[in-house]
Amino acid sequence: MTESINVDVVVLGGGPGGYTAAFRAADLGLSVCIVEKRDTLGGVCVNVGCIPSKTLLHAASLVEHAKHGAQMGIAFSAPNIDIDALRSHKEETITELTKGIANLSKARKVVRVQGEGHFIGEHTLLVKGDSEQQVEFKHAIVATGSHSVKLPIAPEDSRVWDSTDALSLPFIPGKLLIIGGGIIGLEMAQVYSALGSEITIVEAQDQIIPAADKDVVQPLLKATKKTYQMLTKTKVTDMTAQPEGIVVGFEGKKAPERAVFDAVLVAVGRRPNTSGIGLENIGVDINEQGLVEVNDRMQTSVPHIFAIGDIVKGPMLAHKATHEGKVASEVISGMDATFHPVAIPSVAYTSPEVAWVGLTEKEAKLQGIEYTAGKVPWLVSGRAQSVGATNGVTKALFDKESGTLLGAGICGENAGELIHEAAAVLQFGGTAKDIAHTVHAHPTLAETFAFAAELVEGSMTDML
Ligand code: FAD
Repeated sequence: MTESINVDVVVLGGGPGGYTAAFRAADLGLSVCIVEKRDTLGGVCVNVGCIPSKTLLHAASLVEHAKHGAQMGIAFSAPNIDIDALRSHKEETITELTKGIANLSKARKVVRVQGEGHFIGEHTLLVKGDSEQQVEFKHAIVATGSHSVKLPIAPEDSRVWDSTDALSLPFIPGKLLIIGGGIIGLEMAQVYSALGSEITIVEAQDQIIPAADKDVVQPLLKATKKTYQMLTKTKVTDMTAQPEGIVVGFEGKKAPERAVFDAVLVAVGRRPNTSGIGLENIGVDINEQGLVEVNDRMQTSVPHIFAIGDIVKGPMLAHKATHEGKVASEVISGMDATFHPVAIPSVAYTSPEVAWVGLTEKEAKLQGIEYTAGKVPWLVSGRAQSVGATNGVTKALFDKESGTLLGAGICGENAGELIHEAAAVLQFGGTAKDIAHTVHAHPTLAETFAFAAELVEGSMTDML
């Protein structure tokens, strides 16, 4: 028999977008039910995305830092990697976080229903799990996230991975091919390189991390070019699973015609999970890319149904999903909320990290915006010298006439933390003068952002 519950808000999907929306709605006094097919809340981000990748990247950074120690007279012997212990450590981190989210959910009396949900009416969701449950709702927030794109030429084989497979650390391949030089591909390259794999990266475009400026990515390229084989403007033409490995064919100037790999990670992008959940049956508009169309209140074409996170336009990032989730719940509770971020920061947690926010230089050029750029090599930073991070760069773009910050890109140690000064200045509409007049502590890497502003504002004339 199908059980039935009745709530103000049903949230479909328990990822960062979904659980944040559910918590906000509950805090605003609404009755809430969250439907998630996994055993745990946290979605891709906590279970198979942001958190496991950053945990493994931290482990990789220990290996990296140990290598640098020798330059300072502190040498360590080669790392002894226990992959089972590392896997357990990563699982423990995930468990801690998912337990925490479950407790926060319980404390707010959010009803949790485990199973796969789909809409069978404008106010009804059917959930199929161990038993069937029907959720009647006044409002729904859809937060079903995204999945890895599969390559049609990739064979079904345990040595052909998506990011979830790679994060499960099935084994350490001698030779690992990574198809896709975006953030996920490069982060996984960092992890497996530290674990001992020989890495080849294939990217169809002319640079890795194509979304960021080339000169901002340059220090990462320089740091990894001796360890990775980086094949840009290259395509994989075919792949076959053979006993000796995955045999891969390439098309590209510098690429070999064929090569054999012990494993292949396909990291060529993600697609929204918007089919098979009944949205089309209830009149919710979905565009050609499979994204749900929403207004700035996160409302779909059916006004009491909201959509957030990876299934709506914009970068597929956890921090975007959480902000959208809050907006959706606030609108439902009657508040006048909209999602209008001035900028959303992006970070590749590689070594060195690459981070950018607001306009990139190539975007400014494309949009015909007149700008002045301040670019600071970290060689000039006392802190970078002290911590052996001189390979970094900080770049900031300012409107030529008003001096208002348009965007910034940073590559170097802790770039992912440093970028938030630029994000805050962008949000407040600050100028080069404002940044230059902000007293920055010395010696810090953050000073490089102030130097970039001083170069543009005229209080510093040369860097090197
Ligand atoms: P998701 O987190 O995808 O959650 C959706 C949930 O909905 C899932 O748990 C799914 O099981 C559930 N679901 C789907 N359909 C149904 C259904 N019909 N019924 C019930 N449940 C359903 N972003 C960052 O900001 N920083 C990072 O460092 C970062 N690293 C990443 C690393 C990797 C390897 C990957 C893959 C992604 C990473 N991301 C990162 C992206 C980030 O994980 C996503 O942007 C974020 O998780 C999106 O949140 P969401 O709430 O939209 O959906």
